[in-house]
Amino acid sequence: VLSVRNLAKAFGSNVVLRDIDLDVRRGNVVALIGPSGSGKTTVLRSLNGLETPDAGTVTFADTATGKDLALNFSAKVAKKDISDLRDRSAMVFQHYNLFPHMTVLQNVIEGPVQVQKRKRAEAVAEAEKLLARVGMAEKRDAYPFELSGGQQQRVGIVRALALKPQLLLFDEPTSALDPELVGDVLGVIQELAEEGWTMVIVTHELAFARQVADEVIFMDGGVVVERGPAAEVLRAPRQERTRQFVRRLL
Ligand code: ATP
Repeated sequence: VLSVRNLAKAFGSNVVLRDIDLDVRRGNVVALIGPSGSGKTTVLRSLNGLETPDAGTVTFADTATGKDLALNFSAKVAKKDISDLRDRSAMVFQHYNLFPHMTVLQNVIEGPVQVQKRKRAEAVAEAEKLLARVGMAEKRDAYPFELSGGQQQRVGIVRALALKPQLLLFDEPTSALDPELVGDVLGVIQELAEEGWTMVIVTHELAFARQVADEVIFMDGGVVVERGPAAEVLRAPRQERTRQFVRRLL
């Protein structure tokens, strides 16, 4: 579905990403791991147009029309292409980022109705189905502040699903949660993986990455240090830096 080549990004003189390559096949789960500040979030944000890389290409094969979207950040990228890129994926944020003044249901249907111009009744019916799936049906009229972190994140996931994206992006979806709530949210993500959703997940939960990811990419200092099948990278890393990181967290 997605192919990234030579992605580079600096904030002023701080070079955050260098020559990042990434391929995500349809139905696959890629986990991005690495120490804080290694650039994982910046990669994710670049994939849905929240960040504009300085160089590199992002190619997105359209599963519906068969038409590829190709962005070359080394040249000037058209706004329309950025917005097309954004339309294809949906992001689940570390801090949920729900609209505080909207109910659960309003949060979920906002994108489908306002941005995608879908019929309200249809969006509501779909939202209710998705909320029921994650055990949040009774909370449809609650406001985010009335929910636990785990519940808010389940709504965050439903909000992303409601957009029917081709790619789901998760930015440390459980790192703001109390430990006893982490399992619920990881369980939901695991189910989505089993259903065949295509996902890129930034996570510090290495045991979880080992379970769900088809490929694990270890980043450090803005470069990919090691990549491969989850079992290989997490059980028998080849690089010393990966070994140290994995030993500390697993
Ligand atoms: P973490 O696990 O802590 O989220 P990360 O691996 O996701 O870390 P990034 O958030 O991608 O890392 O950040 C990489 C580097 O880019 C850091 O040095 C950070 O300070 C810098 N950075 C990120 N966003 C910005 C920004 N908008 N302006 C300036 N610097 C930024």
